[in-house]
Amino acid sequence: MAYLNSHYLKLKAGYLFPEIGRRVKAFTDTHPEAAARLIRCGIGDVTEPLPAAVREAMHRAVDELGSSATFRGYGPEQGYEFLRRAIAENDYRSRGLEVADEEIFVSDGSKCDCGNILDIFGDANRIAVMDPVYPVYVDTNVMAGHTGEADESGLYSGLVYLPCNAANGFVPEIPKERVDLVYLCYPNNPTGATATRAQLTAWVEYALENDAVILFDAAYEAYIQDPSIPHSIYEIPGARRCAIEFRSFSKNGGFTGVRCAFTVVPKELTCLDNSGNRHALHPLWNRRFSTKFNGVGYVTQRAAEAVYSADGKAQVAELVAHYMGNAQVLREAAGECGLQTHGGTNAPYIWVRCPGHLSSWQMFDRMLEEAHVVITPGSGFGPAGEGFFRISAFNSRANVQEVAHRMKNICWTKE
Ligand SMILES: *Cc1c(COP(=O)(O)O)cnc(C)c1O
Repeated sequence: MAYLNSHYLKLKAGYLFPEIGRRVKAFTDTHPEAAARLIRCGIGDVTEPLPAAVREAMHRAVDELGSSATFRGYGPEQGYEFLRRAIAENDYRSRGLEVADEEIFVSDGSKCDCGNILDIFGDANRIAVMDPVYPVYVDTNVMAGHTGEADESGLYSGLVYLPCNAANGFVPEIPKERVDLVYLCYPNNPTGATATRAQLTAWVEYALENDAVILFDAAYEAYIQDPSIPHSIYEIPGARRCAIEFRSFSKNGGFTGVRCAFTVVPKELTCLDNSGNRHALHPLWNRRFSTKFNGVGYVTQRAAEAVYSADGKAQVAELVAHYMGNAQVLREAAGECGLQTHGGTNAPYIWVRCPGHLSSWQMFDRMLEEAHVVITPGSGFGPAGEGFFRISAFNSRANVQEVAHRMKNICWTKE
């Protein structure tokens, strides 16, 4: 008899995006004339083409694989040295942060890394997540058996939820209770919020005092415009002893379809085993990579390396400027409609308060029916997201201008 992993049965059947799909279909089935007008500002996927420097690097790499003199088979599981060095040099050392090449682990995505990292942690940790939250952090802990069942609002017993709201600037307060693992994501998806140096310092101090580990997701660091906002958790003194950082080429280089990301595991980072002996985590993550992964494709790693070339940097800056220009158009349009907005200044997401007493899903329906625009209801990211919706700036400028125009034509005071 084979048994399944019964923790999977606790997962709330992927609710948010299927429900969005169902409502969009129901609407377009009954309003076929509106289907062609529909603009999607829901899913957080990039829309603009890959930078030329990246494409050229990929073409060259393909040709190398096409010749026996330069063919490459299996590479190092952790990533080629040329890419680990480019990352450590450009993202860290050139900014005065001490990160060694061997501390960079190149992967096929931060989503995978955020889930896989649980392999090297024990089962007895108290785990804290933000609410609203990127659902991957929660669901991977459910799968690993780190939680009980979900209640009717979708909160799992056994997890510590850290509410993020307008009052705390969408950065959670330091918990009174002790937690062992805490997920922080800044700039944040879905709220578009950033954490200041002082806020991150408080979290690092908490982690050091409580022997906790911060799992810091910096997938959107390229969108930071304000020079005072840290790009990396390692800008905070002591973070090398208590934090793992996740970064991705998805949102800066537009690699959501190419797939490349990395984790940083500093050699000073340690944890206790069940007998109370202290061990470094770096060898465990290294072992996990060697055993369960055979590395990212050579062509993809050359593509990622090209993000750090002079042309690559300039082209990525253009992409970011494009999306941030979109964010400004959307934020201003929402503001002109009298809607209260958060985010959208250092992140490609605008987090908008629903007008009046509209719930997130009521707002979703109004945007769909009256503007033919698909947004993401805030409650889909957790109970603290109720009363908000997320507009993504990942779109063409023409679409964004059209969304802004349509939003302004709706009377938001009508209930
Ligand atoms: C898009 C995104 C990532 C990147 O995921 P990839 O698997 O690298 O594409 C990571 N974290 C968050 C919160 C994201 O929104």
